Amino acid sequence: MTLASTAVADPLAKPVEELREVGPARAAQLRKIGVTSLGDLINYFPRDYQHESEERPIGLLSDGQIGIARGEVTAVNYIAGRGRPRFEATLADEQNRLCLVFFHGAYLRTKVHPGLILRVRGPVRYFRGLPQMVNPKWEAVVAEAPRVADAKFRAVYPATEKLSSETIERIIGANLTEALAGIRDWCPGGILGKRKLVSLRQAYRDIHQPGDRNQARAARRRLVYDELISMQLALGLNRRFMQPGSAPMMRIDRNLDRRIRARFPFELTGAQEKAIWQIVADLQSGRPMKRLLQGDVGSGKTAVALYAMLVTVANKMQGALLAPTEVLAEQHYLVLSRLLRDSQVKIELVTSRTKQKSRDGLAERIAAGEVHIAVGTQALLQKSIEFANLGLIVVDEQHRLGVLQRAYLTCKARSPHYLVMTATPIPRTLALSYFADFDLSTLDEGPPGRQAVGTRWLRGSQSAQAYGTVRQEIAAGRQAYIVVPRVEDDDLSESKSVAKHVRTLSSGALSDVKLAPLHGQMPTEIKQQTMAAFRDGKIDALVATTMIEVGIDVPNATVMLIEGADRFGLSQLHQLRGRVGRGEHPSQCILLADPVTSGAAARLEALVSTRSGFEIADMDLRLRGPGEFFGTRQHGLPEFKLAEVENEFELLRLAKQDADQLLGGDPGLIKRENAGIRAMIRRQFGVSMGLAAFG
Ligand code: ADP
Ligand code: MG
Repeated sequence: MTLASTAVADPLAKPVEELREVGPARAAQLRKIGVTSLGDLINYFPRDYQHESEERPIGLLSDGQIGIARGEVTAVNYIAGRGRPRFEATLADEQNRLCLVFFHGAYLRTKVHPGLILRVRGPVRYFRGLPQMVNPKWEAVVAEAPRVADAKFRAVYPATEKLSSETIERIIGANLTEALAGIRDWCPGGILGKRKLVSLRQAYRDIHQPGDRNQARAARRRLVYDELISMQLALGLNRRFMQPGSAPMMRIDRNLDRRIRARFPFELTGAQEKAIWQIVADLQSGRPMKRLLQGDVGSGKTAVALYAMLVTVANKMQGALLAPTEVLAEQHYLVLSRLLRDSQVKIELVTSRTKQKSRDGLAERIAAGEVHIAVGTQALLQKSIEFANLGLIVVDEQHRLGVLQRAYLTCKARSPHYLVMTATPIPRTLALSYFADFDLSTLDEGPPGRQAVGTRWLRGSQSAQAYGTVRQEIAAGRQAYIVVPRVEDDDLSESKSVAKHVRTLSSGALSDVKLAPLHGQMPTEIKQQTMAAFRDGKIDALVATTMIEVGIDVPNATVMLIEGADRFGLSQLHQLRGRVGRGEHPSQCILLADPVTSGAAARLEALVSTRSGFEIADMDLRLRGPGEFFGTRQHGLPEFKLAEVENEFELLRLAKQDADQLLGGDPGLIKRENAGIRAMIRRQFGVSMGLAAFG
C-alpha cells in the first residue's frame, strides 16, 4: 500500500527548461506566455489551422493559402524611403514570376542576389494579377533539390514577437509524444461512447497535429467538454454543503425590521424591498442561502446587503463582507460604520494592509465573537482567521473574487448564508456555467431623483474643453474624478504615472484646482485620508487609476473624466461612469480618446449611446468573449481556455447532465473509481478547490 501511494513523478510536471528544443532563452520566453511545464505546453492551444499545400510551380500557387514554391532570383531592390523600409525580390521559374516582399529586410541585401535559387514558403496573395508573398520563410537551394512533397494541415499558435507560431509548433512537436504518454483519461468509457467524444490522448494529439479540420474539431470538442464538466463538478461539490438544516435558521419580526429600517436615511425602493423580502425568506429557511444580487451601479445593493447583515447580527451571528479591492473594502467599512454609529454593533476592517500585529489581535476578537461584522478583502480568507459563528457572507463583485475563494469560504464556515452582489449582469449561458446553483434577485430600479449622466466623447485635441468642464463644475462647488490612462510601460509604476499626471495638470490645465492622487500602491492610511478629504470637500478632484472603478460613493462628484478611454474595457468604463450621478446634481462623463482601433471606437460609441448596464454587458460579451469579459486573468475566475460558453450551450447542457449523474452516484466523488475525476478537478482548480471539496 505504501508503495502504491508513493507519488510517481508526473511527466507533465517537467519544467520547460528540460524540454526538447528548449534552451534557456526559449524557456524564458515560454514562461512569459505562462508555459512553465510540459503540461502547460500541451495546453497551449492553437488559435487556428492552415492548409499548407505541397511545393508547386509558381503558376499553380493558390490565393490565400500558405504556398511553397521555388525559382531563380531575377531582380532585387531595397526601398528605404517613406513608410516601412522593405527589401523586394523577384523569383522566376520556367513560366511565371513571384514577388517577394520583406519588411525591414535590409539585412537581405548581402544575402539575396540575382542567380540564387530560393525555396520560399508563405501566405500567397495575388496583387495586380501576380502572386506575391510578404515576409516568406526562405532558403537557398540547389536546382536539383527534391520538391517538398506533402501537403499539410498545420496548427497556428498565438505567437509573440520572440516566439513564432512555427517555433511553438516545433517545440510542441518535439515533446508531444512524451506528453501524451503522461495523459490519463479520467472520463469513463460509457460517457465517451454516449457523447461521441474522442479519448483525451487523441484529443491532445489532434488539437496540435490534426490530419484535417474534422479531427481538429473533434479534439477541441473533447477538451471543451472537459472544461465544462469540471466546472459543473466543482459547483456540484460545493452544493454538497447545501443540505437543508445545515444553515443557521434566523428569526426576524416586525420590531427588528423597524429597527433596521430606521438606520437608513432613505426609503427603500420597490426593488430593494423585493430583494430584501427574498433574502429574508432564505435566511429563515434553514437552508443556506445562495443568492446573486444583481443591479446596475448605483442601484442600491449595499443597503440590501446591510439589511441582511443586521438581521444576522440581531440573531447573534457574525457577518463578513468581502470586497475585491482595498478601497472598496474601506468604503464599505466607512458607510457601515456611519450607519451603525451609536449602535452596539462592532465592525472591523481587515485588509492585507492591516498591520500583522493588529491583525493577530483582530483574529482573536473575531474568533471570540467580539467582532460582529468583519469587512475586508481576500485577507479575510486567511486560514488564521476563524469566525466564532459566521452566519452570513456577502461578497461584492464576486466575479473578481473567483470560484476558488468562494469554495474555500463555503468550506471554512460550513454553511453560512451567502449573498453575492454584482453590477455586471451575467448573461444566461455564463450564469448557467458559473452560478448554476444560485438564486437571482435583481434591482431593476434605482433610487429616485437620480440624475442621468450625460456622456461625451472628445478627441485629444479637445482636451481644453474637457478640463474646462472640470473647472466649471468645481467652481460651482462640485467635485471631479480624473482617471489616468493605463500605462503600458512596465517601467513606469502606477504611483509614478499618477504623480506625473498630477504634476502635468497642476502646472497646466488645472492649476487652480486642489488635486490629489489616489492609486493602489498608496499606504492604506494615506488612501483613507485622501478619500475622507475628498468626501469632506477638501479636495476638488481625485487623479486616480481605475481603482476607483467600483463602489466609491461621493454624491457631490459630478464629473468623471477618463483619459485614454480607448484603453479600457466597456464594462470598466461603465463602472467608472457609475461613480458620478449619485446625488442631486446633473453629472457628466467625458471620454477623452483618439482611438486607434475600430474596436475601441465601437466601445466609446456604445458608451455614449446607452446607459443600460444590461445592454453594455451584452455588447461587451459580444465584443470580447467571456474570458476577457470577466477579466478572469486578474481576478481568479478559472478561465475556459477553449470553451466559448455563449456558443457551446448544447455541450454545456450535456456536461451538466453528466456531472449531475456522476455526483448522484458519488456526491463527494470519494469512491476509488472516481479518483481520476478528482485529480482532474484538482488540476483545473488547484489546491484550494481540493481543500474545500475533499478537505
Ligand atoms: P451599488 O452598490 O448598487 O452601486 P449603493 O448601494 O452604493 O449602490 O448605492 C448608491 C447610492 O444610493 C448610495 O449613496 C446610497 O446611499 C444611495 N441609496 C441607496 N438606496 C437608496 C434609496 N432607496 N433611496 C435613496 N438613496 C439610496
Ligand atoms: Mg456597490
